Amino acid sequence: MIRLVRFQYSGTEDKPQVSWGVQSAAGIHDLGACVGDRLRSISEAMFHWDTLRGELESILADAPKCDSAVRLLSPVPEGGKVICIGLNYRDHAIESGMDIPNEPVVFNKLPGVLCGPEAPVPIPKCSSQVDYEAELVLVIGREAWQVAEEDAEQYLFGYTCGHDVSARDWQLGRPGGQWLLGKSFPNFAPLGPALVPREFVEDPCDLQISLRLNGETLQHSSTKQLIFSPRELISYISQCCVLHPGDVIFTGTPPGVGMAHKPPRFLQPGDVCEVEIQGLGVLRNRFV
Ligand code: ZN
Repeated sequence: MIRLVRFQYSGTEDKPQVSWGVQSAAGIHDLGACVGDRLRSISEAMFHWDTLRGELESILADAPKCDSAVRLLSPVPEGGKVICIGLNYRDHAIESGMDIPNEPVVFNKLPGVLCGPEAPVPIPKCSSQVDYEAELVLVIGREAWQVAEEDAEQYLFGYTCGHDVSARDWQLGRPGGQWLLGKSFPNFAPLGPALVPREFVEDPCDLQISLRLNGETLQHSSTKQLIFSPRELISYISQCCVLHPGDVIFTGTPPGVGMAHKPPRFLQPGDVCEVEIQGLGVLRNRFV
């Protein structure tokens, strides 16, 4: 299992020194420090992944290990599209009393919403209904335009955990009926902790997914419940827009969101959410 990470050395926030590498039980290997002259970023590593993979073992043997004083960033840099799917878990649709959709419900978040594990997520002053949504996130690796479902996987680089933070009072019932603003407040799309290339995930439609709020499990399901699989989503979306490397697709959330609780459980300053997906790790963020 290879886990790719982006990180910043601490104490350099005013002079950002962002690098990338591989996270293992032994720590983080700084690959930016040893092959950074040809692969300057995680995006370039993704682009040249087929070559990099073949030499990774020898590169890792030489790569300097970081001490623990690094701050993990979103494994996917800002700049790509952030596409989201609504109502994509069978158990969630049944719980909500909604019909199972026969086409994906697609929406997006504005640029600038990505943040990394442990990044604080501000609760906006103008919202009192900030909600959590644990999601499996697809990271596109190759340009995809009108690709067939059976070919779709080769356009996918890998997977990470995502949190589709949602201000329900801006998502639902506002004039205009759009979801965009309620999904686009700063840091409303935490990603991480690591990007796992697709060849290390045997079956993306058989992963446990859960969300804990202050240690209490509020969402727990399996991606077996996905109505539209990763390959169906990539194929479907690519019929309408070109997907580029670094674009991300949030694949929808299982049952148990705060708005579905009676009474609803919306997030408050100080709350800590952990999104955990089998094999991908734990994405932890504090709301402030
Ligand atoms: Zn969502």
